[in-house]
Amino acid sequence: MTFLKSQLKNNRFLTIVILAYVAVGIFAPDKFLPSLGNTWYYVKEMLIIMPIIMLLTSLISAWVPKETIENAFGKNSGIKGSLFAFLLGSFSAGPIYAAFPVCKMLLSKGASIANIVIILSTWAVIKIPMLITESKFLGPEFMVVRWLLTTLAIFLMGYITSRFVKPEDLPTDDETATAVDGPLALNSDYCVGCGLCAKIAPSYFKMIAKKASVINQTLPPGDNLAIKDAVAKCPSQIIRFHP
Ligand code: SF4
Repeated sequence: MTFLKSQLKNNRFLTIVILAYVAVGIFAPDKFLPSLGNTWYYVKEMLIIMPIIMLLTSLISAWVPKETIENAFGKNSGIKGSLFAFLLGSFSAGPIYAAFPVCKMLLSKGASIANIVIILSTWAVIKIPMLITESKFLGPEFMVVRWLLTTLAIFLMGYITSRFVKPEDLPTDDETATAVDGPLALNSDYCVGCGLCAKIAPSYFKMIAKKASVINQTLPPGDNLAIKDAVAKCPSQIIRFHP
């Protein structure tokens, strides 16, 4: 019973979706199979795209130094940072949900809120291949005017959001880690289940029900390189290590 309760708590969104399907099955049975088909379509799409995005996010997280991200996208990066953010979003591939882990990683490495808004918004509505398709269907004039207005709106949204939402309003690194007595902590709510930490430092992390858990808080003397490697490569940046 306790196990069931903890599973329901850890998978709140999935539970709501299953309940919604049960409700559709009871009250609109003719819509049940088509909606199941739609969900399966998106699940398949995510299964193809998300591992690639997670891999890219881990590689960037591990190899690109914090200072580089801060210089490129940080709050002092000025108009150059906004343009980088705009180009990154415009040339990105994949659906918008793929942008969230990338943006979370960039935020954790010092990107500004305004630039994150610009990346997310351009990723969602201004993709270069989409502009070509838009121009074919609706004409170049329509595409150019919409692109200009949308671009202006995106920069404005970035500015306004950064006035209202401050970095301290976002969950901090320590808040996203579950409080424990020990040097290691992680918040499994944000774990995407990639298993990297358990592969890199199996003495400290274990995958339980597709989420990572800390299994050992006793550190041997030394550099603890495996733990540091797992912290750096975690695509969700949710592992905290305070030796
Ligand atoms: S905690 Fe481990 S399993 Fe979860 S996202 Fe990070 S590296 Fe992957």
